[in-house]
Amino acid sequence: MKDKKILVSGASIAGPTLAYWLDRYGFEVTVIERAAALRLGGQNIDVKGPAKEIALKMGILEEIRAHNTTEIGLRFVNSDNHTIAEFPSDSSMSMTQELEILRGDLVKILYDLTAKRVEYIFGDHIIDLIESENEVKVDFASGKKGIFDIVVIAEGIGSATRDLAFGGRPRFNYLGLYTAYLTILRNNTDSRWARWYNAPKGIVFMLRPDNYGKTRASVTFLAKENAYKDLSEADQKRALIDRIQGAGWESERLVNEIKESEDLYF
Ligand SMILES: Cc1cc2nc3c(=O)[nH]c(=O)nc-3n(C[C@H](O)[C@H](O)[C@H](O)COP(=O)(O)OP(=O)(O)OC[C@H]3O[C@@H](n4cnc5c(N)ncnc54)[C@H](O)[C@@H]3O)c2cc1C
Repeated sequence: MKDKKILVSGASIAGPTLAYWLDRYGFEVTVIERAAALRLGGQNIDVKGPAKEIALKMGILEEIRAHNTTEIGLRFVNSDNHTIAEFPSDSSMSMTQELEILRGDLVKILYDLTAKRVEYIFGDHIIDLIESENEVKVDFASGKKGIFDIVVIAEGIGSATRDLAFGGRPRFNYLGLYTAYLTILRNNTDSRWARWYNAPKGIVFMLRPDNYGKTRASVTFLAKENAYKDLSEADQKRALIDRIQGAGWESERLVNEIKESEDLYF
């Protein structure tokens, strides 16, 4: 199998990790990413269990540790911001894990580890695949063509190439929740503790420290399936503000931050 050409589609976590191992075992690897650059958004990812073992074998465990989000545990608070329950990171029930890293930091670490030896192509994607016994012919949106021995799809949950290769979409079971994520300015109620507030009317607010001097906020709320489907970003902001306005605790702070947000992920 050595010297074979492999195309990996998707440069997030799975794609570059696979590329690292394929390169290490002598394959010639190209990674193609639909976005124009690495997508560095997202919030906390826990590196634990098999992921920790793999990170150790890839020699990036200490780099991951150095990018720790600095969170020391989770506090459930009431509307006056008094702590009701506290789960420090070293307790078995804590949400805060030993290796807590922002998704974007992990993506960057994996990219930097592989970029010298693996070819990365950004801003392009597969539009057709023709598989024969010995090869896969690939057409790209840019008009380029390629021939590979194997194509691996690492495009995450909404993969279009998976549909192209295998047909049909996976079935999703809607669990009744929407979540919005955004980065906000740190203020004097924030600390190295994550804070969780259960607001009335099925809303959960969570604020967590990051390692860049900011606070990562999430708002999770009950909603009917497709209630907010296909909204523009401005409409997402309006819908979210309508939902949380007057919910107590630090909801007004969040309303103001949502208006200004440039990284709202809904
Ligand atoms: C912007 C973003 C933010 C996220 N935030 C969080 C978070 O806060 N917390 C959390 O736990 N998980 C988050 N996730 C999901 C998490 O990254 C994944 O569920 C998990 O890590 C699995 O990673 P993956 O590499 O399999 O897929 P993903 O991380 O979903 O990455 C798939 C990659 O493939 C690319 N791609 C998609 N379609 C194509 C195509 N047709 N051709 C080429 N490339 C394509 C995408 O742009 C993306 O870079 C986020 C994902 C993204 C993309």
